[in-house]
Amino acid sequence: MTAEIIDGKAFAATVRKKVAGHVAKLTEQHGITPGLAVVLVGEDPASQVYVRSKGKQTVEAGMSSYEHKLEAHTSEAELLALIDKLNADPAVHGILVQLPLPDHLNEDLVINAIDPAKDVDGFHISNVGLLGTGQKSMVPCTPLGCLMMLRDHHGSLSGMNAVVIGRSNIVGKPMAQLLLGDSCTVTIAHSRTKDIEEVARRADIVVAAVGRPEMVTGDWIKPGATVIDVGINRIDAPEKGEGKTRLVGDCHFDSCAEVAGAITPVPGGVGPMTIACLLANTVTACCRANGLPEPEGLTA
Ligand code: NDP
Repeated sequence: MTAEIIDGKAFAATVRKKVAGHVAKLTEQHGITPGLAVVLVGEDPASQVYVRSKGKQTVEAGMSSYEHKLEAHTSEAELLALIDKLNADPAVHGILVQLPLPDHLNEDLVINAIDPAKDVDGFHISNVGLLGTGQKSMVPCTPLGCLMMLRDHHGSLSGMNAVVIGRSNIVGKPMAQLLLGDSCTVTIAHSRTKDIEEVARRADIVVAAVGRPEMVTGDWIKPGATVIDVGINRIDAPEKGEGKTRLVGDCHFDSCAEVAGAITPVPGGVGPMTIACLLANTVTACCRANGLPEPEGLTA
């Protein structure tokens, strides 16, 4: 079997188009422009790239982008004061604090200072609780993107066996909650899981969010299963020349694609969906803040 490729790049473009359409309607009919504030502390190069890309895509979707770049030595009090200001600003509907923060800042404290209604990353403890109890919440962007691709591919996920490999707060746990919400039978595997290959082989859906290059190989996959590869790992690529690198997922693409029914590539799978879902969450937050109907198909 050769798997169908789930094209996250193309799917993300359709999500962004939907977002832009909704933004245009909000602006024309209600005079409201959704606004996203992104806060970056320090000069982590990867974070700078993400923040630039988020800002660019926000503007391309017709929304306002507010970038706040703070020095690496910014104090917790200064950062919390900025968050308070953004919480109170009616032009800001979404607030994202780019992680990781420098070591002297308490991430939990900072994230939980964001107004939960503006928490477009879905990491605030209130949103975690709302998601866990099946209530309306802001949903973390990466698992939301995975869910959208799975729904698009399968229609209903009801009754499917899903195995999520990884139990982080930002991917694994919310992913499992979302799959449960769509009536999958969900198993969460992690570094202490026994016979993990055997556990994975029972799955109709495997979501790998581990951070280990090409760990999941074709012999872990049930024939015909759908594989969602969240991992982004940079590895050496001497075949491309000295000092060159390339991106790979947590799944070994070629061997998994031989067995799976469908698979997301890396790059071009889950990655592009994450920012598209950030834009979607910002529009959703804006609609909720203004008591307007939420855009269809852009939330869990
Ligand atoms: P974390 O490091 O927070 O979590 C990794 C999880 O994998 C942990 O639960 C850990 O288990 C588990 N794990 C580690 N080793 C093994 C193993 N040998 N067998 C089984 N489970 C294992 O990572 P994140 O969730 O933040 O990210 C996971 C991957 O997804 C990374 O590659 C990251 O770059 C990528 N990512 C991609 C995004 C995107 O937009 N595409 C967004 C966010 C992340 P334990 O808890 O037992 O230690």
